[in-house]
Amino acid sequence: MGKSINDIFLEDFQGVVGEMLIRNRSILDVLSKIQVSGGRVNRAVVKSVTHCGCISIDGKKQAFPNGASINDLSGLVSTQVKGELCPDCRQTIEKEIGGALFYLAALCNTLDISLYDVILKEKETLATLGNYSLR
Ligand SMILES: [Zn+2]
Repeated sequence: MGKSINDIFLEDFQGVVGEMLIRNRSILDVLSKIQVSGGRVNRAVVKSVTHCGCISIDGKKQAFPNGASINDLSGLVSTQVKGELCPDCRQTIEKEIGGALFYLAALCNTLDISLYDVILKEKETLATLGNYSLR
């Protein structure tokens, strides 16, 4: 199977991360940064709700009717998000997700793991699980 331009882009991304990661090169720093960057993603989403208000969360118990098929459930189970991200919040969340991806790529570099292969394997797993995936 030939590599697409997206595949090459992803490998290049990991390479650029490797070149840029000089100050926090220790795996301890990288692990700590993964934790912090994940928290920053969550914080940006929460601030869209509590500070901006462009989205709200309608959290409640979701009912799973007996005998419902997986296909039925996908229409019945809600994200519990109401509204749409405004441009500012979208930009902030995208920036934080980028930061989280940066440190995941850095961890891959440190342990000599290909982020491209990880995504490929995950995609294959999802294809195998098909509709039975409960992730
Ligand atoms: Zn907003």
